[in-house]
Amino acid sequence: MKVTGSDFDDTSTTNKVIVIKPHHLLDIFKLYGKGIENFIPDKNYNHNFYLIGNAVIGNKVNKIRFTYSYDDICKPCYYLKNSVCSDYFSANGVDINKNKFNEKLDIRLMKLLNLKFDEIYEFKNIIELFNSEISLKLINLAWYSSNQEDNIIRYKLTKKGIENFLSKY
Ligand code: SF4
Repeated sequence: MKVTGSDFDDTSTTNKVIVIKPHHLLDIFKLYGKGIENFIPDKNYNHNFYLIGNAVIGNKVNKIRFTYSYDDICKPCYYLKNSVCSDYFSANGVDINKNKFNEKLDIRLMKLLNLKFDEIYEFKNIIELFNSEISLKLINLAWYSSNQEDNIIRYKLTKKGIENFLSKY
């Protein structure tokens, strides 16, 4: 099924399709695995991470579509300019364009997970797929420029978050 947009709004996520970058969804589970059970708004960014994050970990999402472009988290973000992320982050003293970095990361993740952009998926099927496919090897291939220590932490927390979610719902 092809779609162009999201029918997400901030009143409810149940029975709606959320549009999300795959690394954002993995980030939500990583933070959940770290012990965060209630995401709060970020005043510096004003993004919807808290809203989507709480809907995800509260099992209020039924359907999901992936994108490497801006997603439902990005929509109100101060750094979204003309539909493009204008933010930078620093790694080893180098400023990195977040938009370019994340586009490539999300495309790698989709290939590794054998998922398609523009396809609408059942949320529960995606979480089961994550549970069976997320490995340290996959994390290393997706985040290949990160150091091993960071990737091990990312893997362990993400896996724990997914397992905690599946044991609860
Ligand atoms: S626009 Fe950029 S900084 Fe803002 S939520 Fe999206 S990816 Fe993050």
